[in-house]
Amino acid sequence: MKERRAEESPEIDLSELDGYSYRCVDDCALCCLCQPELLPDEEALFRSDPVLMAGVTDEHISPEVKGAAIRLKGRHGACHFLTDKRCTIYNRRPHFCRSFPLNVFAGWRVQVNVNRSCRGLGLPGEELEPLGRRLLSRYGDDRLKGEVRSANKVFSQFVRNTREASAAQSFSSVRSAAAMLDDELTEQLGLSRVMTYAEYGSTKPNSSPADLAKRVRITEAEADISERALMDGVELFDLPDLCLLPVYVGPDLSWKMFKLDGKTFVGWELGESGETKEFCRVDPSSVDLLPMTTAGRESVREYLHLINSRDCFLGHAAYLCDMEGYEFNFGQVYLGAVANNIIDLWWRASLLAQVAGLEQLDAAEIREGVVFFDMDLLDLPTIGAFI
Ligand code: SF4
Ligand code: SF4
Repeated sequence: MKERRAEESPEIDLSELDGYSYRCVDDCALCCLCQPELLPDEEALFRSDPVLMAGVTDEHISPEVKGAAIRLKGRHGACHFLTDKRCTIYNRRPHFCRSFPLNVFAGWRVQVNVNRSCRGLGLPGEELEPLGRRLLSRYGDDRLKGEVRSANKVFSQFVRNTREASAAQSFSSVRSAAAMLDDELTEQLGLSRVMTYAEYGSTKPNSSPADLAKRVRITEAEADISERALMDGVELFDLPDLCLLPVYVGPDLSWKMFKLDGKTFVGWELGESGETKEFCRVDPSSVDLLPMTTAGRESVREYLHLINSRDCFLGHAAYLCDMEGYEFNFGQVYLGAVANNIIDLWWRASLLAQVAGLEQLDAAEIREGVVFFDMDLLDLPTIGAFI
């Protein structure tokens, strides 16, 4: 991690936006299911206007998020201000609504990510790179400097902790190792090796990327990837609070979610007010990781390289390392986190494909898995902060 002097402008990384355009799709409104927080100046404005005030709450669906936000209809439906999939306060909508599908992450630098769950991504419309620059200019240099200064302290402390625990691995090294392992990380046997290595392997501090990759390749594959995928899937949909379930916007722009009901997954279409209508029932044990075509696997590989380039994902692996008390080398934790998330993506793509009666995953099915998954990936706990 490169140290920057406090007075320097922070490094800005907009590479994820390169070459992408975007246009908001009528009747999608997926982002209006994410409860927007209000910035302090927005809160004052909302509280001063009776129409806007009616939508304000001090309780966010994620208990760790403090401060004012906009309430959701029926607690798990759409934003209070959404009617027939139209924003009724469009010109006064909060900052977070204006930013979507872009997310700004402050770590040791500022990085702008684009939410791949957005159906408008890739459509002809606004170029994302200038959009990202305009978004950053709204924050201003001083704010960005301050955010990076605070986040940098957390990342630096993390690095010190890994050194003290003999679990250190450089950020560039873990990323290079994941890139080298992109064949392994996109097929079951390789994923099993990575997961087994992450849990039972041993690694010297500050190993080279080639050494990390070699250690994975000589690991005996003991983890049952299908079983893990199923266990994680069951856990994902076994939540009592509907507002915490992941939502997927289908190609027909309906909002869908799944919930474990006894021993069955129930698929629901979600309505604006939080009402649900069942559209399928699936036996969890029948959901297997479907085989991928060459193009399907290539799409997973592309997504793997994307998450490997995200600072928030690296921050997530650092968060996990910290939660595990620095018991494992950071390289093992990072590769394990990549593997875990690829398994989750593969499983969600398989679930959607099986519901649609398909037996293999081509690029289009992986794309649907990414639409279902990326919103949640960007929501993982991390060190550093989305601002
Ligand atoms: S998710 Fe994207 S396409 Fe859908 S409403 Fe939001 S910005 Fe528009
Ligand atoms: S304020 Fe408008 S744009 Fe923002 S979430 Fe609510 S309905 Fe959607």
